[in-house]
Amino acid sequence: MLKPSSMKPSNYEPTPATGLVAYFSMEIAINPRMPTYSGGLGMLAGDTLRSAADLSTPMVAFSLLHRKGYFRQILDAEGKQSEDAQPWQVEDFCTEEAPRVTVSVENRIVTLRAWRYDVVGRSGHLLPIYMLDSDLAENSEWDRRLTDHLYGGDSNYRLQQEILLGMGGVRMSHALGLPINVYHMNEGHAAFLTLALLEAQTGGGPLGQVSATDIEAVRRKCVFTTHTPVPAGHDRFSMEQARRILGAERTARLELLGCCHEGLLNMTYVALRFSRYCNGVALKHGEVSQAMFPEYTIDAITNGVHGPTWVSEPFAELFDRHMASWRRDHLYLRNAIAIPADEILAAHARTKESLLAEVASRTGLVLNPKVLTLGFARRAATYKRADLLFRDPERLLRMAQAAGGLQILYAGKAHPQDEPGKALIHSVIEKAKQYSGADLRVVYLENYDWNLGAALTAGVDVWVNTPLRPYEASGTSGMKAALNGVPSLSILDGWWIEGCIEGVTGWAIEDGADDAAEAESLYTKLETAVTPAYAEQIRWARLMATTIAHNGSFFNTNRMVKQYIRNSYYPYDITEEIPAMAEAVSAS
Ligand SMILES: *Cc1c(COP(=O)(O)O)cnc(C)c1O
Repeated sequence: MLKPSSMKPSNYEPTPATGLVAYFSMEIAINPRMPTYSGGLGMLAGDTLRSAADLSTPMVAFSLLHRKGYFRQILDAEGKQSEDAQPWQVEDFCTEEAPRVTVSVENRIVTLRAWRYDVVGRSGHLLPIYMLDSDLAENSEWDRRLTDHLYGGDSNYRLQQEILLGMGGVRMSHALGLPINVYHMNEGHAAFLTLALLEAQTGGGPLGQVSATDIEAVRRKCVFTTHTPVPAGHDRFSMEQARRILGAERTARLELLGCCHEGLLNMTYVALRFSRYCNGVALKHGEVSQAMFPEYTIDAITNGVHGPTWVSEPFAELFDRHMASWRRDHLYLRNAIAIPADEILAAHARTKESLLAEVASRTGLVLNPKVLTLGFARRAATYKRADLLFRDPERLLRMAQAAGGLQILYAGKAHPQDEPGKALIHSVIEKAKQYSGADLRVVYLENYDWNLGAALTAGVDVWVNTPLRPYEASGTSGMKAALNGVPSLSILDGWWIEGCIEGVTGWAIEDGADDAAEAESLYTKLETAVTPAYAEQIRWARLMATTIAHNGSFFNTNRMVKQYIRNSYYPYDITEEIPAMAEAVSAS
């Protein structure tokens, strides 16, 4: 069977010395004060670029400007979510670039400019992010709003945004004169970049006759990371929409090239079709994706998080004292096992104190720093099952009493159009109200974002994750926790299959036939493993040290970016020639 993405280009050997990687992502968490991200995907993009800058990787990035941001979450007393826009001052953070490019959308010509933000690496390396902006006088009022709202509007708006990102981004990269030799699509949103490359390859005008050589020339430049473990999650558009908005000729071309599936234009197939290398974001997710797309070869590069962004100040000081080189190379974190228990406990106590101070200032609730505190914060999607802990409220209360108290901190936004997700938030807040005594305290914190995420992942005692398998492609918040020595109690899905060493880095919630069975395992682990370990603080300190040593040292973007360079961007090196040479020698 033809497996396009496994075919190695014959005579194309890009190297970091000859050009740049261009990283395309619909969302990027760039700066805590810029609301240009919604959650995990944007955080991963930002952490990737921060580590790439730290490693002085020749790289640039493209995204949309998102002038109105994602949204600020407001929760009323009943736990009902409403949303506010988050306008921000672009000029306070970014500088405008001179070039203008145009893209045709729905038979209109849309002009774009780019705003530049430089990510500065630890040794001063600059990694520019170019954010495309359609808010220009020459555009119609509708078109001027196309780069305003991240994941806003309907699927027509979404398709128009994706055309601007992919095709506009490539044209801007050309207008800026950037010598790009690898285009990396972070999720299918950016896959129209391949169409712009194909048009450039065939001479700019209408696609006309596209040859196999043209397609191969595009494939040599493109790599793709998929993030979605279920078919329904992949970005798709109706053929009618595609013809109307993208254009009849381009749509017919993509259809001919196998980019449509079940009567829909499928952005994942666009990306797969035109990439020489594809990967999922954890080993299990690679397997799941491979089974979903058997005609392509899909590898896996497990996600990570950017150490200096997510390690709390007390732990950063501790690491600087004991493993000064960790900032350059996170593998040195393996030596965390040598840090004395009292120093780990002291660093954690300081980190937990600042979290509880933040909770008090936001809610007026004063929590007890001695009491075991669980954290659960992420997008409020139903598959994450935020309410699994409340399956048996009486048992939860008995456990809290037996353990000398229990505190649970929740946070997370539901997408504005996700009614079931909003209902889940409402239900958690309603359940939280049932516990008014000091034994069990449940708090839902408003407006989960970068800063709150950093405070929560670092400051709680245990990070809980209860996704329904196999929906969690990777998950990254447990990795942020691990860098701060916080163990996870999680379903074996996504990264946790690789990260869980029972009793050493945390605990697994056993796979069960249904929610009830998995809730049962969650309670049993809390009763028999977590609370007894927490009661012995010296033992707990060991657990924190081994969590950092095993998982902090590996699940970071410092390692991940090196893996992308080695496996995705520049996989051609001398070691690949060795087997062929050995064969030639033995044959002679
Ligand atoms: C890290 C982070 C996420 C990712 O959450 P997961 O559920 O672990 O994928 C989402 N939102 C914010 C604000 C984060 O900091």
